[in-house]
Amino acid sequence: MTRKFDHFAFLDRERADPDVYPLEVRRKEFREIYKPYSQEEAASQAERCLDCGNPYCEWKCPVHNYIPNWLKLAGEGRILEAADLCHETNSLPEVCGRICPQDRLCEQACTLATGFGAVTIGAIERYIVDEALKQGWRPDLSHVRTRPWSVGVVGAGPAGLACADVLTRNGVSVTVYDRYPEIGGLLSFGIPDFKLELQVMRRRREILEGAGVHFRLNCEIGRDIQAHELENMHDALFFGTGTYTPVDASLPGMEKGGIVPALEYLIGQTCHMYDIDLPGYPHIELAGEHVLVLGGGDTAMDCVRTAIRQGAASVQCVYRRDQQNMPGSRREVKHAMSEGVQFEFNALPLALMHEGRKLVGLEIARTRLVAAGDGRPRPEQIPGSEEVLPATALIFAFGYRPSPPKWLQGIDVGTDDAGLVQMEAPLPGQTSNPAIFAAGDMVRGSDLVVTAIADARLAAESIIQYLDMQKPQLKRA
Ligand SMILES: Cc1cc2nc3c(=O)[nH]c(=O)nc-3n(C[C@H](O)[C@H](O)[C@H](O)COP(=O)(O)OP(=O)(O)OC[C@H]3O[C@@H](n4cnc5c(N)ncnc54)[C@H](O)[C@@H]3O)c2cc1C
Ligand code: SF4
Repeated sequence: MTRKFDHFAFLDRERADPDVYPLEVRRKEFREIYKPYSQEEAASQAERCLDCGNPYCEWKCPVHNYIPNWLKLAGEGRILEAADLCHETNSLPEVCGRICPQDRLCEQACTLATGFGAVTIGAIERYIVDEALKQGWRPDLSHVRTRPWSVGVVGAGPAGLACADVLTRNGVSVTVYDRYPEIGGLLSFGIPDFKLELQVMRRRREILEGAGVHFRLNCEIGRDIQAHELENMHDALFFGTGTYTPVDASLPGMEKGGIVPALEYLIGQTCHMYDIDLPGYPHIELAGEHVLVLGGGDTAMDCVRTAIRQGAASVQCVYRRDQQNMPGSRREVKHAMSEGVQFEFNALPLALMHEGRKLVGLEIARTRLVAAGDGRPRPEQIPGSEEVLPATALIFAFGYRPSPPKWLQGIDVGTDDAGLVQMEAPLPGQTSNPAIFAAGDMVRGSDLVVTAIADARLAAESIIQYLDMQKPQLKRA
């Protein structure tokens, strides 16, 4: 059904996020907390867009989505056309609509953000794609010209999937390899269901397979297939294998135990819920525990909210700067607070306290923020401010460092001193081996889903450019 777009809606219509499930439900359940918009709600919110001549939201969005255009289509009820347009710039729009930190990206740049309340861009993006898929939307590949190339994509996280999507839409044969039994990488295993349910990635797998992408899961490159063998199987390779080495806290007392590594905790919870057997990720149950989570990013927020849902006796987040300087999404911090998480801001962890081998607390010192060269205030310890926060379980969520596999060297892919894959000109995403490309966290360091998608889509275009310049080798399987 189409309807007439009301261009002055913003004057009398307030921003309205989709409803969330009641707190008593949210605190126990792992399902997504937002209810879907109805068609009327989505159209009504989309109509608040001013259709600015030079839309700042598009510039701020890392994939440069055609935001005002698809908002207009959604406002008119033309959902299938809106979904086509969403997919022109983004390979996983339903994921970004759910978990992009819009308050730092598109919605922060919305002209209405100051004074009126930004358009709910992310929620409408999610609505468009969910609704279109319900109505049977599938990518139109009828005009695709087949190319005689085969590309191996290592990693089925957002980077690998975005690369596979663009290559397939350009007629290239793609096989995606992943060591896990499901596609999605951190989207499926790290990020909890209350932000992004696993079924969203399972549905995306069907779409990608329907478009011709071939997945080889439970297949680890370097173990099940050697990297040089893979080179011989394909005309070009793409790597999007992420960053998985936790930043070490090195606090006195850590050797005595009581510590839970953040990603193991989150992955173990997902595997438990879906009965997935992933060696090395046991289910860690924190019901009844007094939990401290150290860190202030998205991973820390996911841990505190998981502990609440597991029934922890108390959950505190310990962060060395203030709330304003937290690195994660403000929306997630707000949700954590409303779900009952206590925040200890300006608190610097000093040492773990044990009685025998039993963890009983964390010694902290208070901090004040001082100006630093890079613009981000630096926490400085206030002498004499030490105190002990009681705890029986401690989760470290200080972020992740690159984890480049040793075999990268053997296929001439260079890394820098920090372990990030080095980009070698001339093509975006091209490594020191001209037939191997990379993107996502393994190139940028731990970042965002949408930046991994943006970089991987560019790398896919580079791969096509590179292969179109080669003589056909016909390695296609
Ligand atoms: C807990 C947590 C919460 C987050 N929350 C958000 C959020 O709310 N919003 C947001 O935008 N970002 C969030 N992020 C960041 C985001 O998830 C990452 O930036 C993004 O997933 C990076 O994508 P990627 O494809 O580079 O890597 P990954 O998602 O890590 O995918 C890498 C894939 O490569 C596979 N792999 C690795 N080595 C091999 C091998 N040798 N052989 C085969 N397969 C291999 C892995 O199994 C994995 O599937 C979060 C991160 C974490 C850890
Ligand atoms: S992809 Fe992310 S930043 Fe871009 S419009 Fe969607 S929610 Fe906003």
